[in-house]
Amino acid sequence: MKNFTYSRAENAESAIILISSNADAKFLGGGTNLVDLMRENIEQPDALVDVTNLSKDIEETADGGISIGAAAKNTAVANDKKVREKFPVLAQAILFGASGQIRNMATVGGNLLQRTRCYYFYDDAARCNKREVGSGCDAIGGFNRIHAILGTSDACIATHPSDMCVALAALDAKVLVEGKHGKREIAFNDFHKLPDNTPQIETELQTGELITAVEIPKNDFAKHSIYRKVRDRASYAFALVSVAAALEVENDAIKNVRIALGGVAHKPWRAFEAENFLTGNQATGTNFRQAAEAELKAAKGYEHNSFKIELAKRTIVSVLKELAENGGIKR
Ligand SMILES: Cc1cc2nc3c(=O)[nH]c(=O)nc-3n(C[C@H](O)[C@H](O)[C@H](O)COP(=O)(O)OP(=O)(O)OC[C@H]3O[C@@H](n4cnc5c(N)ncnc54)[C@H](O)[C@@H]3O)c2cc1C
Ligand code: SF4
Repeated sequence: MKNFTYSRAENAESAIILISSNADAKFLGGGTNLVDLMRENIEQPDALVDVTNLSKDIEETADGGISIGAAAKNTAVANDKKVREKFPVLAQAILFGASGQIRNMATVGGNLLQRTRCYYFYDDAARCNKREVGSGCDAIGGFNRIHAILGTSDACIATHPSDMCVALAALDAKVLVEGKHGKREIAFNDFHKLPDNTPQIETELQTGELITAVEIPKNDFAKHSIYRKVRDRASYAFALVSVAAALEVENDAIKNVRIALGGVAHKPWRAFEAENFLTGNQATGTNFRQAAEAELKAAKGYEHNSFKIELAKRTIVSVLKELAENGGIKR
């Protein structure tokens, strides 16, 4: 591992000053992803700026939503009473991720920026456009069972590995960021990018910008929401496919529905096609299947991962049925 300096920021302002003083500096959250990547020499920062002393607050916002400080630990968010009552899908998604020990260390900011689990990204003998720009992509013709089926490009077919982010995508969250040019908010769906020809650029964050918080707007029906994760092992495994969903039915018609998918794309995938199809329609199994078909119409399977297309459809249908039968609001 390359030598690096370490400093700890006491607030957002000092974090931004510290990061600006070195072009190859990185923020450090719980270190559960970044330190692994440094050990493998995939990330080689000259300096780390520890941001775990920044806000960990989980507070109700003026509009009745929730604001979560970027340094809040994943465990704290999953255990928070307000989160569990208002947005159970978020607590469930976090608890499906990693292990208790990792969730105790991992922060919200770090979770958003965790890197892909593509095997070839971690193997410096492999060609990987994300790790080494322009080198090629060994996953496309290789063992691509865990890779993406939506929004892929000829440059990269990696997935975003987070569970928490899938729930945040379904909940219309926004990411609050701060840098030397001031503060701004980024809609969650715009935060992570598709690979296109630049898979090394994974988010909308500019160099030196710090995530300070994530905000979820008030949403009365999200208290009836669930997260389902399909994976090879019942614990300690990343999603092959996951679905975060919320459903509200009024007078036999779907009034509100939110669906996001994990394990299928370079970013948490908001299922707008399925949502548009379902809104105003009846909450029936046939309609759920048609919605899933509409969402996956553009999916493209590779040699080892075509099974994900049908798996994603069935998981969407199954989650929506469960919400309609047990959890979806009916008025
Ligand atoms: C064995 C294992 C299994 C796992 N399984 C799962 C799983 O099933 N599901 C899942 O979702 N996750 C899983 N994870 C990933 C885990 O959730 C992430 O490692 C964790 O969320 C990263 O958070 P962190 O605070 O440790 O980030 P760090 O490792 O500290 O940082 C990650 C990135 O975020 C940047 N960063 C951190 N904070 C900020 C900030 N405030 N502003 C700007 N940049 C920032 C860092 O510079 C770095 O680039 C697993 C991890 C391991 C090691
Ligand atoms: S899928 Fe993306 S991360 Fe994986 S080898 Fe190809 S370019 Fe690299």
